[in-house]
Amino acid sequence: MEGEIFPVIGAAELQKWAETYNKVFKENEETQRLIRRQAEHDAMTDALNRRSFEKLLHMYENGDTPYALILIDVDTFKTVNDMYGHAVGDEILKKVTGLLKKAFRSIDHVCRIGGDEFAIIMVEMTSDLKYTIEKKIKAVNEELGTENENIPAVSLSVGVAFSDRENPGANIFKDADKALYYVKENGRNGCKFY
Ligand code: GH3
Ligand code: MG
Repeated sequence: MEGEIFPVIGAAELQKWAETYNKVFKENEETQRLIRRQAEHDAMTDALNRRSFEKLLHMYENGDTPYALILIDVDTFKTVNDMYGHAVGDEILKKVTGLLKKAFRSIDHVCRIGGDEFAIIMVEMTSDLKYTIEKKIKAVNEELGTENENIPAVSLSVGVAFSDRENPGANIFKDADKALYYVKENGRNGCKFY
């Protein structure tokens, strides 16, 4: 059995000892796994945290896999908090995370990088696949646009940069952020590409 170091054979006492050892070993492994998970994820939304995002982005920036960096910011979230309270705001952030995870593939990395800011590293993506991202964001915004279970309607502004983009600027984060800024300045609730 996996995680078993000592075979449970031999004299009864030795078997008991091996069983105990294996049990402690397994519990230890589980604890280590939990600690690692907590260090990598945001406790409230269970998305990957900023530290994980930075590590992953660094890895992709230095790798050969084509990818898209998708930056997401909840629109007028301060007002939502002011109107409905912080607890409802928290529920919205959890709902946003859930919808993003559902819309994107399990191989993509959904991260919460700030209060109401999210980032997705979408792997194996080239700029000819813009429509896939547009479609996913549109679907998420449509779901968020319908009020349900006492959660008010909200929307997301999204900026995207591909690793294979033309005329890259200083770095992919800044380029995606530029696209996001454009959406914020031009009516929010949408998705633009660098
Ligand atoms: P914009 O459309 O320009 O993004 O407007 P905004 O009001 O969303 O502005 P901004 O993104 O700068 O504001 C983020 C707000 O998110 C500020 C803060 O009150 C709220 N916030 C940050 N972290 C949390 C959190 O963990 N829970 C809740 N409920 N609110 C948070
Ligand atoms: Mg915001």
